[in-house]
Amino acid sequence: MAKVPAFHSKLPGTTKYHDNNACTEGNNIEAKNRVSGTGGLNKCDHCKRL
Ligand SMILES: [Zn+2]
Repeated sequence: MAKVPAFHSKLPGTTKYHDNNACTEGNNIEAKNRVSGTGGLNKCDHCKRL
């Protein structure tokens, strides 16, 4: 697992950003919906623990 630049989903209803490539939730975001940056969102709880 490794830290990666912050990214989030551009889909409506997105409330969190991710910054770890081992996060299953982050990995579930399809490439076409993936946007870099935090988007002003809160950090994913799962990523916080990784
Ligand atoms: Zn995450």
